Amino acid sequence: MCSNLKHPKPKPAAPSGPFGMMQKAPEVVLRTCSSCHTVSYCSKSCQEQDWKDFHSRECATFSKWYKDRKAQNTWTSAKVRRGQLAYLEDLANEMLPPLPDLRPGRTVAGVRQLSSRSHNPSSAKSPPESYHPDSIISLFDWVSHEGLASRCKYPLAAYHRACWQYINLEWDPRIQQCVKDMEKDPNITLVEGIFMYNASLSMFVFAKLRYDAEAPVGQKYRVVNSAFRMGPRSVTEEIYGAYGED
Ligand SMILES: [Zn+2]
Ligand SMILES: [Zn+2]
Repeated sequence: MCSNLKHPKPKPAAPSGPFGMMQKAPEVVLRTCSSCHTVSYCSKSCQEQDWKDFHSRECATFSKWYKDRKAQNTWTSAKVRRGQLAYLEDLANEMLPPLPDLRPGRTVAGVRQLSSRSHNPSSAKSPPESYHPDSIISLFDWVSHEGLASRCKYPLAAYHRACWQYINLEWDPRIQQCVKDMEKDPNITLVEGIFMYNASLSMFVFAKLRYDAEAPVGQKYRVVNSAFRMGPRSVTEEIYGAYGED
């Protein structure tokens, strides 16, 4: 998975070979940024593009986190991250409805306003005005409940207020770009996996998924971009209270 948000779209899978078998895409060796160890690219051109678009403004902060978290032994390796994304992709294929049901503009049942509670008022900011009011994100959450809880249609603006504005804001420009991509491309949806890290920290693994209705069952959703953030466990404690079940 290339970190460049403008990484070229894959060509639609075409049957090839004598029996019309799907050809598996060749494995691409990713190069990870050698100073922050946080983003990876499939090619030099993707790395250069992303440096211009985002990474030149993030890399110093990400490098500091890398060093701090290495020192505290709380750094998650690229291998762990890849495993988390593969797991989220499998869950999306197993548990999410076909993409047309997850588009902005679909009714989200049982939505009420969340009571606002500030975890860190100094860093609080309101959700971007530009969110489509019906934009949604799917959550796979191992923290707020006993075991996995999934929410397929969680209101994005509410989730931003409840969680995103309190965790690693440096990722925000990338994530906002993914939200824009989702709002204009009918084949894109967003998911976040919330994993327990320790008693006080959670890992928030954000992924932008592309849906291909023609792909075989179990492979229709594919992760195309991701962001890995850590945040206080407390931000997830009450995000569901005011919302009905899916
Ligand atoms: Zn790329
Ligand atoms: Zn970097």
